Amino acid sequence: MSRKQVLKGIVDKGKAEEAQRKKEERERKKKEKENNTNAGKWNCVVCTFENTKAKKKCQMCQAPKPAPKRVADDDAGSVSSKRIRTSGGGTLAELN
Ligand SMILES: [Zn+2]
Repeated sequence: MSRKQVLKGIVDKGKAEEAQRKKEERERKKKEKENNTNAGKWNCVVCTFENTKAKKKCQMCQAPKPAPKRVADDDAGSVSSKRIRTSGGGTLAELN
């Protein structure tokens, strides 16, 4: 009987610890979510108002959301492909 009580005490303690862990986990996830929300925010280049990620235009002055900066490689790729197309068109124009 006394042993059962001891076991029950251990189980209860375990449950309490688990509940505490879950609570901490919930709070941690909540904080992560808040951080992610902050990361998605963007500052208006015109009035510097901080807009939420969902906004396509500035809430204050309706200025469009600035385009996200791309990696330099992307820009170089698009420029070189344009250059090839332009030179190709030029050659064709000369032939015609
Ligand atoms: Zn603005």
